Formats: sequence, C-alpha cells, structure tokens
Amino acid sequence: MPHVPLVIIGAGPAALTAAIYAARAGHPPVVYTGIEQPGGDLTTTTDVDNFPGFPEGIQGPELVEAMQAQAARFGTQFEYADVTAIDVAGQTLTVSTGDQVSYDAVIFATGSEHRKLGLAGEEELTGRGVSYCATCDGMFFKGERVAVIGGGDSAMEEALFLAKHAEHVTVLVRGDKLRASKAMSDRVNAAPNIELRFGRTAEAFYEQDGMVEGVILRTAEGGQDFVEAAGVFIAIGSDPRTQLVAGQVPLTEAGTIAVRGRSSVVSDAGHVVPGFFAAGDVIDPTYRQAIVAAGSGAVAGMDAAAYLGELAS
Ligand code: NDP
Repeated sequence: MPHVPLVIIGAGPAALTAAIYAARAGHPPVVYTGIEQPGGDLTTTTDVDNFPGFPEGIQGPELVEAMQAQAARFGTQFEYADVTAIDVAGQTLTVSTGDQVSYDAVIFATGSEHRKLGLAGEEELTGRGVSYCATCDGMFFKGERVAVIGGGDSAMEEALFLAKHAEHVTVLVRGDKLRASKAMSDRVNAAPNIELRFGRTAEAFYEQDGMVEGVILRTAEGGQDFVEAAGVFIAIGSDPRTQLVAGQVPLTEAGTIAVRGRSSVVSDAGHVVPGFFAAGDVIDPTYRQAIVAAGSGAVAGMDAAAYLGELAS
C-alpha cells in the first residue's frame, strides 16, 4: 500500500488550483483525475469568457491544460485513474488500478454532475439522441432540428453551440422566464435559428426504432405540445458528486459537503473530519463558476498544507 502525504481527487479548477497551492507550500500532491474526463467539465466547454486574465477569452481545454502544466511545474504528480472507494476514517482509498493508497490529508474536489430529467427511457436513449453535452455530441446533428431543455446559462451555452451546427434549435423552458444571465440571454435572442418556448415541461421522449425523434411536452395551461428533434440536450443544472463519501462526511441540506465558514475544513456542528478537505462544486450550492472553484481550491491547498505542517511538527 503506497503512502502519500497529500492526495487530491478531482481534475477541474478546484483540484488543480489546490495542487498549485499545496505544492508551492512544500506538499506536492498526487492528483487522481479520473479516467473518463481528466480535466473536468471545462474540457467540454468551448469559450470561457469570464475567467480573469484572458481578455479575448480562452478555450476550456486550453485553460485546464495550462493549470495542469502549472501544477506539474511545482511537482504535482498526476494519476489518470479513478478513485473507486474512500475510507475517510481509515484515511485510505482504493484506485481503479487495484491499488490501496493511504494518505495523511485528502482534498476532495470531484465537482458536480449533470442532473437527469428522470423521464422513461432517458438512460437507454442517452447516446441515441439524448445528450448532456453539446460540445461532445453537437456535430452529430449537422443540419438537423434539435432541442435543449433548461433555462439557465448551461442551456443557453448548449443552444448557442448547437446553433452553429444544427438547422434549428428549440429551447424548452419550464417557467415563463430565463434564469440565464442577461449576456447569454441576449446572445440567444439574437440567434436567428434559436427559438425559445416557455411554459413547456418535457413529459416523454418520442422515439422511433430506439432513436429520439422528438419530445412530448405539457404546456403551462395543461395542454400538449410536441417538438421535433433528432437530438435532445438536457441542461437543467447539476448535483455535487459526493457518492464516494456518502455517509462518511457531513452534508448540507443542498447536498454539498459541509465546511467550516469560508474554509475547506469539513466540519459539522464543530466536529472536524481530520485530514479531509473539500473544494469546488462539491461545497458550492450557488455559484459553480470556474473562477470560484479555483478560489476554493486555493483555500483547500492552504488548509491542507497547514494541516500537514502541523502533523509534522
Ligand atoms: P441553473 O440551476 O442555473 O439552471 C437550471 C435551469 O434548468 C433552470 O432554468 C431550471 O428552471 C431548469 N430546470 C431545472 N430542473 C428542471 C426540470 N426538471 N425540467 C425542466 N427544467 C428544469 O443551472 P446551470 O447548469 O444552467 O448553471 C449552473 C451555474 O453555472 C450557474 O451559476 C450558471 O450561471 C453557471 N454557468 C455559467 C456559464 C457562463 O457564465 N458561461 C455557463 C454555464 C453555467 P427554473 O428556472 O424554472 O428553476
């Protein structure tokens, strides 16, 4: 069983910023990035226009690569493997390679995952017309009609990306207004091939031979509506990815990991979980921005380094 003083689980801006801070404080970590999506959600985003320091914007994957390179420069090691289990009390984790790893401190920064609609057939139709990622799957719908479900910034981002490939994009919003920022809403309103339909709740996927062909909708007035769509992109928010530590660390009502004040110290009613720090979307029920996650990662890097310093003294 290898022993590492500091392990970071995650691959996005929180994990990578935590690595930069901890490494510079003399505690270079091992980062477990996961196999499926090393780099986190930013790797499936296109233009990032709101991360300070890039006046012309930057592509998500490029931003992540730069953060990885910066963390590596200070001695961070990357393991492209999944952590499959954590024993928080025993301070060990199991990796998809079969390795057991014991640690002195862990920074948990696993981010959040796309919320599902919960409709019949959603799982089976994923990859057969249903998708949660326009940048991953949008190009399969060149010249076709597609739909986006959701009214937040993610949905607008999906719609804008899809509008470049698809013939027509219908955005289905359950309420009577968008939740998205004005900047994103304005861009969507200005796009000639994006149509917004308000007061529409998805009731069922319409499929033919196992492929999506449309969505059956309920209108706010209680009537039915239908939208033809070869692709249905679901962008209705996300939930913190806390399954690995369920029942082992305290959670808030919103399902995020409970931390003390503005720190990354995991704690409930004054009871601290020793050596366990959390950062990024797993502790953030509200903002969920790359820059906020990065700031949260910096805090965790400093907290973990201080903890390891005390252990050694
Ligand atoms: P949000 O929680 O902001 O929005 C979710 C949207 O999905 C809302 O319109 C909500 O409707 C709708 N919704 C939720 N559940 C359902 C359902 N079951 N059926 C139909 N519609 C549903 O999530 P986002 O992922 O859009 O954004 C998360 C955070 O990330 C935000 O802070 C956002 O600003 C940020 N972000 C920023 C970007 C940028 O700046 N470029 C890009 C992407 C995200 P209702 O309004 O009725 O609740």
